[in-house]
Amino acid sequence: MNIIFNYQNFPIFAPQKLVIDQMKVLKFGGTSVGSVKSVLNVKKIVEAIDEPVIVVISALGGITDQLLHTSKIASKGDIAYQDGLDEMVTRHLTLIKDIVPVVEQSKVLERTTTMLDELENIFKGVYLIKDLSQKTSDTIVSYGERLSSYIISHVIKDAKLYDSRHFIKTVKQFDKHIVDFESTNRLIKETFESLPNVALVPGFISSNKESGEITNLGRGGSDYTASILAAALDASILEIWTDVDGFMTADPKVISSAYVIDRLSFIEAMELCNFGARVIYPPTIYPVYHKNIPIRVRNTFNPDVPGTYISNEYHAGQNKSVIKGISSINDTCLVTVQGLGMVGVIGVNHRIFRALAQNGISVFMVSQASSENNTTIAVRTEDADLAARVLNEEFALERSQGEINDMIVKKDLATVAIVGESMKHTPGIAGKLFGTLGRAGISVIACAQGASEINISFVIKREYLRKALNSIHDSFFLSEYKVLNIFLTGTGTVGGQLLEQIQHQQPKLMKQNRLKLNVVGIANIDRMIFRREGLDLNNYQKELETNGSETSPAKLCDEILQMNIYNSVFVDCTASDEIASLYEVFLNKNISVVAANKIAASSSYANYKILKEISRKRDIKFLFETNVGAGLPIINTMNSLMNSGDHILKFEGVFSGTINYIFNTISENIQLSQAIRMAFEAGYSEPDPRIDLSGTDVIRKLVVLAREAGYKLEQADVVKKLFIPDSYFKGSIENFWKQIHHLDREFEEKRKQLALQNKRLRFVARMENGTCEVGLMEVDSHHPFYELEGSNNIILITTERYHEFPMIIKGYGAGAEVTAAGVFADIISIANIR
Ligand code: ADP
Ligand code: ASP
Ligand code: MG
Repeated sequence: MNIIFNYQNFPIFAPQKLVIDQMKVLKFGGTSVGSVKSVLNVKKIVEAIDEPVIVVISALGGITDQLLHTSKIASKGDIAYQDGLDEMVTRHLTLIKDIVPVVEQSKVLERTTTMLDELENIFKGVYLIKDLSQKTSDTIVSYGERLSSYIISHVIKDAKLYDSRHFIKTVKQFDKHIVDFESTNRLIKETFESLPNVALVPGFISSNKESGEITNLGRGGSDYTASILAAALDASILEIWTDVDGFMTADPKVISSAYVIDRLSFIEAMELCNFGARVIYPPTIYPVYHKNIPIRVRNTFNPDVPGTYISNEYHAGQNKSVIKGISSINDTCLVTVQGLGMVGVIGVNHRIFRALAQNGISVFMVSQASSENNTTIAVRTEDADLAARVLNEEFALERSQGEINDMIVKKDLATVAIVGESMKHTPGIAGKLFGTLGRAGISVIACAQGASEINISFVIKREYLRKALNSIHDSFFLSEYKVLNIFLTGTGTVGGQLLEQIQHQQPKLMKQNRLKLNVVGIANIDRMIFRREGLDLNNYQKELETNGSETSPAKLCDEILQMNIYNSVFVDCTASDEIASLYEVFLNKNISVVAANKIAASSSYANYKILKEISRKRDIKFLFETNVGAGLPIINTMNSLMNSGDHILKFEGVFSGTINYIFNTISENIQLSQAIRMAFEAGYSEPDPRIDLSGTDVIRKLVVLAREAGYKLEQADVVKKLFIPDSYFKGSIENFWKQIHHLDREFEEKRKQLALQNKRLRFVARMENGTCEVGLMEVDSHHPFYELEGSNNIILITTERYHEFPMIIKGYGAGAEVTAAGVFADIISIANIR
C-alpha cells in the first residue's frame, strides 16, 4: 500500500532541544543486508561509531518482493507458494548459522523459527481461503523487517532491539496509510528518552494509531522510518547506507557514465526523489529538511568514500553542469481533459483536482496550454483508469452537452525530470534539453516547468526512456567519457579492417578523447550479433558463429530499431543494394549512417536527396567519404569549400585505381589483356573486371561527387567515352576473357605512339558546370595526372577561389586499409569529440 505524504499532517514545531547530543540515525537498506558479507560490513560500520546511534534496518535484500509475490501465489490457491516460503526460511536460518555468534545461535534460531512458523500459518490461511486482504498482506510483508532486525540485533555488539510498531503510528486516508506525526513524535521521544549505544529499529513497519493493526510506510519506506526518527530526536545527521557511492547524476543501473553528486540541496534531492531516484524514498526528505538535519548517502560496500551530502545549502554542480541530476518514472499515464467548453471557464481545473483528490489520486505533473482548451495530468498507471472514470463522472453534464470530450487516456509512457537549482535564471536549458531529445528522435508528449525553475519534466513513450536518459546525460554532464554506439554490417576486407582499427584505437580514444566506441552490433551476410554493452572485438567472428543468429536485411533492421539505442551509427561495409535501402529507415530513427557502399549516394537523385534531407532535418549524419577515392578527403574538402561560400566550377580526376593500374602496367612486354588479368588476379579489380572497364564504378563516383558539388545529376546523364567497345560487355565473363586479346594490338600501337610523344593514357572523370563525362585522356609529362603510380587517385578541383591553380588531392585510391580508415574518420566525425 502506498503512503501519501501529507504536509498538513506534519506539525511545525519550533526547533527543539536535542534529546541526546550528537546522536546519529543510520539506515541500512535491503541492498546492505542481503548477504553475510554485507551484514558484516554493517556490523563494522556501526561498531566503529562512538556516539549513540539508531540503526534502521530493512528486510534482507529481495525479501519484501518475495513475501508479496509468494502471498499472491498462495491467494490463487497455488501450492507453489511453499517453494517461495521454503526459500525464505532457508535464507534466514542460513544467515543465522553463518553470522550469529555460536553461543546465541540456538536462542536466535528458536525465536526466528517461531516467527517463520507464524508466517507459514498465515500463508496457509491465505492459500486455503484464497483471499488476501490488505490487512493480511501488510502483516505478511512486515515479517521481512521483523526477522532481519531481530537477527541483526544479535550480530551488532550491544545492540538493543526496538519494535517500530510501538512508535510509528499511521492513520488511514483514501485507502492509504499516512503517518500520524503528533502521536509518532511523542512516542518516539518517550521510547528513546534514554538511548543505548546502538538502538536497532526495523524500518518500513508501523501500526494503526487506533486499532494497532500492522501497517507500513510504503515500498522503500525504511528511509522514511529513519528520517522520522532523526527529526523527532534532533539527530545530528541522517545517514542512508546503500549499494552505490552516493546520490548520482542518474540511476547507475541505466546510465553507466552516471557519477556521484557530492552535494545537493534538500530541494534538489526532493525533486529528484519525487521523480523516481529510488536511492531515497521521496517522503524521507521532508522531516529532516524541516529540522535542518543533513542527510548523507553512503555506500556500505565502499565506506571510505564520502558519498553525497544533502543540506539546506546550495552548491553549484561539479563539472559546471547547470543541472544536478536526471530522474524518471517509468509507469506514467496521461489523462487529458479537453473541450472547447473549457476555454475561459473559471473553475475547471479546480473541479479536476478536487475530483482526483477526493479519490486519493496523486497527480505528479500537470500541463495546460494557454488556449485553456485542455489540461493534461500525469498519474501512475495504477491510478489511470480510476482517474479517467472520476473525471468522466465529474464532467458528465458537460460531456452530454458536447462541451467537454470523453477523457483521453494515454498509457505506456514515462516521465523524465531534469533538476538543479542553477537552472534558475539560466537561459537556454529548455532549448538544450528539447534539442537533445529532437536529435535523438524522441518526441515530447507533454512537458512542465514550474516557475521555481528547479525542475523541467516531460513525458515520452516508455520505449524511449533509456535512450532519452542516455542522450540527456550525455548532453548535460561532462561525463568521464562520451559513448558512440556502432552497428557494423559487412565483415569482409573493409569491415574486417575497420573492426581491427577500432579495436586498436579504442584505448587511445578513451584516454585522449574520452570517447568510448561501443560496437553494439555486427552482421555479415549470414549472421548477426548484438550486445548493448559492446561486443568484444577480439573474437567477434567466433561470437558470430556461436552466439549469432541468422540474418537478413529485414531482420537486421528490426533488431537495430528494437534496440533503440542512443547516439548510434549504422556502418555499411557491404556492396548490397538491399542494405542501402535501409538507410532511410535508420535516418528517420535518428541513427546516423556511414556508407562505404556507393549504391545509395549514386542511386536516383531523388533517393539521394531524401537521405540528405532527412539527415539535415534530424541533425544527424549521412556520410560516404569513401565512395570516392577511398580514404582521401575529397567529399569533406568539397563540403568545407562550399560551406565557406566557395563554388565548385569544375573538377577532373582519376578515380579508378583498377584502370590506372592497368595503364601503368601495359608495356612493350605486357599487353592490355594481360594487364587486365593481372589486375584481376591481384584483387585490384571487381570480381567482374567489366564493372571497372565499362566505367560503371567511375560513373558512380562522378555522380556522387557532382551531387556533393551541388549539381543535380543521374548516372544516365554522364557521357561515356569508353576505350573498350560495348560489344565486349555483352555476353558471359568467359567470353570476355576469350575475346579481350583482340584489342591488344590496337592498344600497343597507341601506347607506342604516345610513348614517342612522352604521353600517357588516363581514364578521367570530368565535371564542368554540371556536365559530366568519363573517357580516356592523353596526358603529357607536365600534366598532374602524368605521374600517378599504382592504383592511386587524383582530383583537381577548380572553384571560384581556386581558379588559376586548381586544388589537388592525390594518394591511395583503393585498398582495404585506407578505405577502412576513411570509414573510421567518418565515424569519428559523428562522435563530435569534445
Ligand atoms: P536500498 O535497499 O539500500 O534502499 P534501493 O534499491 O532502494 O536500495 O536504492 C538504491 C538504488 O537506487 C541503487 O542501486 C540505484 O540503482 C538506484 N538509483 C536510482 N536513481 C539513483 C540515483 N540518482 N543515484 C543513485 N542511485 C540511484
Ligand atoms: N523492505 C521494504 C521494501 O523493500 C522497505 C525498504 O527496504 O525500504 O520496500
Ligand atoms: Mg530503498
